[in-house]
Amino acid sequence: MTQTNRIVEELRRALPDGKVLSDSEISEDYSHDEAYATVPQMPAAVVLPNATDDVVAVVDTAARIGVSVTPRGSGTGLAGGCIPAPGGVVVSFQNMRSILEIDTANNVAVVEPGVTLRELDEEAAKYGLAYPIVIGEKSASIGGMVATNAGGMQAVKYGVTRNHVLGLEVVLSSGKVIHTGGKLFKLSSGYDLTQLFVGSEGTLGVVTEITVRLVPRMEYRTTLLVPFTDLVDATAAVPKITSSGIGPLILEYIDALTMDAITRDVGLELGIDESIKSKCSAYLVVVLEDRVESSAEKGMEDVTAIVTANGAEEVYVLPSPVAMRLLEARDRAHWMAKANGANDIVDVVVPRAAMADFMQSVSEISQKMNSLVVGCGHAGDGNVHLSVFQPDPDVRHSVVLSILRSGVQFGGGVSAEHGIGKAKRSDFIELEDAAKLDVMRKIKSALDPAGLFSPGNVL
Ligand SMILES: Cc1cc2nc3c(=O)[nH]c(=O)nc-3n(C[C@H](O)[C@H](O)[C@H](O)COP(=O)(O)OP(=O)(O)OC[C@H]3O[C@@H](n4cnc5c(N)ncnc54)[C@H](O)[C@@H]3O)c2cc1C
Repeated sequence: MTQTNRIVEELRRALPDGKVLSDSEISEDYSHDEAYATVPQMPAAVVLPNATDDVVAVVDTAARIGVSVTPRGSGTGLAGGCIPAPGGVVVSFQNMRSILEIDTANNVAVVEPGVTLRELDEEAAKYGLAYPIVIGEKSASIGGMVATNAGGMQAVKYGVTRNHVLGLEVVLSSGKVIHTGGKLFKLSSGYDLTQLFVGSEGTLGVVTEITVRLVPRMEYRTTLLVPFTDLVDATAAVPKITSSGIGPLILEYIDALTMDAITRDVGLELGIDESIKSKCSAYLVVVLEDRVESSAEKGMEDVTAIVTANGAEEVYVLPSPVAMRLLEARDRAHWMAKANGANDIVDVVVPRAAMADFMQSVSEISQKMNSLVVGCGHAGDGNVHLSVFQPDPDVRHSVVLSILRSGVQFGGGVSAEHGIGKAKRSDFIELEDAAKLDVMRKIKSALDPAGLFSPGNVL
């Protein structure tokens, strides 16, 4: 009997009722996510649990026969995190998709990990609430978002996933199930295990239930589109806005090439004067939200004054349907870059006050290495998404590594929100402080001594 057949047989014994897929039942989707520079890998088996007990049964069986387990949400990750190790098992949460509770008294939701961002937000909306961690891909699962500490456009106001996860149910490598946190907004009882699992990319445990904080849904939104001749001026205006106390919901920068591509893709006309468009190299998109219309309007006037004093060519107030289409087009920037032949993406983060200098450094790197580097980003968070167009793999790696090194030198990090996964692991290990990596390895071996979970991710 081959090793693969043995794995499938053992798993089917532990999990009857068609929860284990093998051979031709496994679609090639399970071999990859949306990362660029990773090698697809088919799993030996895919398990579709219906409940936590099923996950415990997979973990126990895999541990006994010495096979690795890689959790998978919706496979929209950009770091190769859900790609299994050769001969390993994928646990897919597509059948654990219940919203278990929307608790309006505590403003929390309790969900299974396979619930998508779109499903959770639509359900919360029925109660006048929102799940405010809104990332560019609404089909992402909440389990995957927890595992990557996902961020998105609204992080400048609401923070990232980590700031909204209150409690978790986790299956450990021993097969034991723990519950961390709860419907609690403060907790200082020992080490914060909830936060340890957030962002751990499936390497420390398998998340089977999540309690998240919801927020009241705001009614009024205003969107400003601000063209700049100079990208550095655009990024330099960002800390001025954030330190003014205005508190934007969204504060994005989009460079002119990217803006042209994403608006052309959806046939969106923004009404920018041709004389301004022709000299513009970057745009800021500022969205304000409020409970009352007058506050949103006052905020709009304040932002206008700040950007005008900082080199803006013009300030356009976008009608609501146009604003919505622009943000949808911005969400599609990743697909546009891919369709136009981008070879890799970078998700670097720097302190937002360093963004202008960092972007200058990116421009120098790309020119020196004859590569096209364009993009957009969550400017309010200092998070830059750059598409790198450079077909030569060696030159491309030098470009990416130089950009990441520059980000780290400005006090930043290799990944803001996509995670390290397999795609950025070697760069991360090269650039991260060795003493910190040592602590991470000790945590990993304390929780998963046999290396059962997601081998090849992060470390
Ligand atoms: C067009 C596009 C736009 C995007 N925009 C954003 C953005 O704005 N902000 C952002 O942060 N990301 C963005 N992403 C990246 C991606 O959507 C996020 O990383 C998301 O969190 C991944 O969720 P997923 O369910 O697809 O996870 P997967 O890709 O399936 O898995 C991601 C990681 O989570 C682990 N994992 C999944 N479920 C569990 C579980 N239950 N327990 C333990 N570990 C688990 C996996 O092993 C893997 O390491 C974008 C992606 C695309 C394609």
